[in-house]
Amino acid sequence: MRDDLQNLVDRLAAYSAAGVLFDWDTSAGDAPEEAADYTAKLVGILAGESFALCTSDETVKLLKDCLEHPSDDEVETAIVKRLWEDYEKICHIPKEEYIAYQELVSKGMNRWERAKDEKDFSLFSPVLKELVEMSKKINGYRPRKEGLTLYDMMLDEYEKGFTTKELDRFFGELKDELLPIVKKVSEKQDIVRTDFLTRNCSIDEQKHFNYVLAEYLGFDHTRGVIAESAHPFTTSLHNRDVRITTHYYENMITSAIFSTIHETGHAIFEQNNSDRITMTPLAGGSCAVHESQSRMFENMIGRSEAFWEPVYPKFQEIFEEQFGDVTLEEFVRAVNAAKPSLIRTESDELTYCFHIMIRYELERELFDGDLSVDDLPKLWNQKYREYLGVVPENDAEGVLQDVHWSGGMFGYFPSYALGNAIAAQIYHAMGKKVDIDGALRSGDLEVILAYLREHIHQYGAMRETKRLLLDATGEEFNPSYYIQYLKDKYIKLYEL
Ligand code: ZN
Repeated sequence: MRDDLQNLVDRLAAYSAAGVLFDWDTSAGDAPEEAADYTAKLVGILAGESFALCTSDETVKLLKDCLEHPSDDEVETAIVKRLWEDYEKICHIPKEEYIAYQELVSKGMNRWERAKDEKDFSLFSPVLKELVEMSKKINGYRPRKEGLTLYDMMLDEYEKGFTTKELDRFFGELKDELLPIVKKVSEKQDIVRTDFLTRNCSIDEQKHFNYVLAEYLGFDHTRGVIAESAHPFTTSLHNRDVRITTHYYENMITSAIFSTIHETGHAIFEQNNSDRITMTPLAGGSCAVHESQSRMFENMIGRSEAFWEPVYPKFQEIFEEQFGDVTLEEFVRAVNAAKPSLIRTESDELTYCFHIMIRYELERELFDGDLSVDDLPKLWNQKYREYLGVVPENDAEGVLQDVHWSGGMFGYFPSYALGNAIAAQIYHAMGKKVDIDGALRSGDLEVILAYLREHIHQYGAMRETKRLLLDATGEEFNPSYYIQYLKDKYIKLYEL
């Protein structure tokens, strides 16, 4: 890469790494509760510096020069394209507003945590109103692409090329095909036994098991750490420092297990970004592709009998008292059980996408419609009753359950649902080349990891989702694999 471009990329990576570390310290580290406002100021200053660097005359001149003299190198070309797009996104926003927004985002998280602890939406709603208003304003500065609404632009920010038009079709299909199954499954709850999953298991032993499990799946402990936080997540400085968190419950051992498997899926993606794209704007991966990897590990791999066949005897050895009398088949059936519930992160595979659909419909009303922040809890509860037949008793298990809006991440949720569908599509394509079940039964996942490295992980966010999917699967985005996968699984499990 040319030196001046490399220098810009390195400096931007440094600002971004500092932001990641502050975030980590707030969410999983030792930052005290009262630190939030002052820390927000520091984060704001760094964001301002990064903003100034991205929009400086020197940078603009450099990028224009790169665009006029394109390189033959795919990575370099993609970096320039990405930096130019980023510049175009923010160049219309006044610097003071950009900094104020970053500060607000940093403060939002703290306010949300308090409100959630107190189960009281009114403690969060003032800052949420500000976040919504500022997001509207900031996204309003960007030149609107033909035919797109404000919310379309916000969706496009996270997942290029997926707008309300496509999402309406996608969620429409899920509603038609899967809601009837959800209803039938709710009525046949006694078919799958799950009582043993709430048996008490020591947290120390859980920690040990999860540490080994992550490594078994392909997590490299020399390039990553596992910590704890209320809401599990993955973050990274680069492909040699990838951090995940999980959350342990004494009486719900599978919560930590599947959080760990999920975040490990994210982490393996990041650890296997090629050296050429790590610490560049192409590192990581698009939201939906990222989520496809975590959900593939969590669900398609992590809840399959083939996966547990070699793992379960070791699990039983550690938790003999609790699981000695539970067979492999009973355990696998239990971890696949479905039941409409209130909390997205604890929800089963079948109902998961409807949690996302509810958030999508609400966000759309907030930004393209006339829904006010104050009416969010009421509409939230209404939609849960309508689609899933359950109603939250308080805001903590309702509208306050997710962290995203506190960080100004509006338009992000749909990537979760897209990620599930993409996971199924990639899994189907991988199955044509790799004996997935055979690999899982043998206890050696390397052929699976190698396939994913080759087709997905190495590229990070270098290729747009639609192109990556086409290259990897030979097909455009096609949610029918996801729908079929869920139908097959749940019709069999619940004898529908
Ligand atoms: Zn995830």
